[in-house]
Amino acid sequence: MTHLIRGGWVMSPEPIADGAVLVERDRILAVGSYRELAAAHPEAPVHGSAHDIVTPGFVNTHGHFSEGLVTGIGSDLTLWEWIHDLINPLRPHYTPEIAYVGTLVAGIQMLRSGVTTANDMFVCDPGTAAPITPHVVRALDDLRLRGVVSFGAGDQRPGASIAAEFEEHQALEEAAKSSRLSTFRVGVGALGLQSDAMFTETVRYAIESGHGVHMHVQEIREEVTATHQRTGRTVVGHCAHEGLFAAPTLAAHCVWVDRADRQLMAEHRVGVAHNPVANGILASGIAPVAELRQLGVDVGIGVDGAASNDSQDYLQAIKTAALLARVRDLQATAMHAREAFEMATIGGARALRMESEIGSVEVGKKADLVVLDGSGPTLANVHDPYQAVVFVAGSREVKEVWVDGELSLADGEVVSVDVAEVVQRSRPLATELVSRAGLRRLSVLAR
Ligand SMILES: [Zn+2]
Repeated sequence: MTHLIRGGWVMSPEPIADGAVLVERDRILAVGSYRELAAAHPEAPVHGSAHDIVTPGFVNTHGHFSEGLVTGIGSDLTLWEWIHDLINPLRPHYTPEIAYVGTLVAGIQMLRSGVTTANDMFVCDPGTAAPITPHVVRALDDLRLRGVVSFGAGDQRPGASIAAEFEEHQALEEAAKSSRLSTFRVGVGALGLQSDAMFTETVRYAIESGHGVHMHVQEIREEVTATHQRTGRTVVGHCAHEGLFAAPTLAAHCVWVDRADRQLMAEHRVGVAHNPVANGILASGIAPVAELRQLGVDVGIGVDGAASNDSQDYLQAIKTAALLARVRDLQATAMHAREAFEMATIGGARALRMESEIGSVEVGKKADLVVLDGSGPTLANVHDPYQAVVFVAGSREVKEVWVDGELSLADGEVVSVDVAEVVQRSRPLATELVSRAGLRRLSVLAR
């Protein structure tokens, strides 16, 4: 079955006016002028219109489905307090059902804002009765959302064992193997959350199994100083020294990376997830995106978790990336809309080393596509398609989302799960989770 997806602009590497994308099964078969493709394929049903914008699916390079049910609480904390007061108390209380429903709740919001690939790190204590994280993969498959899944492992807390952390890794790895849409990475909560013995084992596992790594890196100053006191190096310096970067590594945040760190990251092709909204909410700082990109580092954009963003709206994250860069430099030229768009698409794909499959509208790539609705007032008049996507469009304009050649979102709504039912199901779970973790005291209403 072939489909023709039409747009007034098709954001192939260069924008095509009144273009179309021909999709067959899971792949892009052709990209070009709508008139020519429609004439050559009269049998193909046409999606989109002459007023819509067709973009590559957005690549969300960092998030935590473990936070899907704890949005909008405790976000007047800075990162250290936030981990201590909010994330750590949650860790023992996850269940397979919370993992499944939390992933659906966050994943629906991602699809509604045009995300087709989500790079996730699930943060919880390993399941005692059964592993927790495979239920992330089950939810992503049910949503038809492409996943790069990891478990944010770390043994530096009372009662933790390296063996149990690795069992959770392996259960997730197995789940991803049997999924059509998810692939596995080795998650490292943060360097400081692992003992030296565990980190050595992590490096060995990643390299021997051929998996990529997903890790928080130098999000705040305190992480840099604490690591320096312990190892005599920065986190980036220590990871390079220990050989971690022999595995393809995606480093989330990198707000506090100095010149030497940046050089090392460029040398080892470490990808970066820039999370402008979460970094703003937790007052962590602004990552040196321009400096990293100048050195050739691949930088993508992430929404980060629902407990630190707190929204899962990817279009907000793209816009904020451009705004923060401009405010930081007090230069309107600091980040053009086109650069933000590229980071959200091919930049993120490169950071995850998936650029041969996703990240742009090109023949042979996976058909991961977004159709932005041009029939309403928001995109009624598009003068520059990059600015239209980055500064003008909201998730309301996301009309269709294609993942792997299938419609995951049509007429603005997720196709394969009942959203009202998911919302209903999430409420008692969220109430119970917050109550068991003792988080109610973080609400301003408790003061
Ligand atoms: Zn994170």
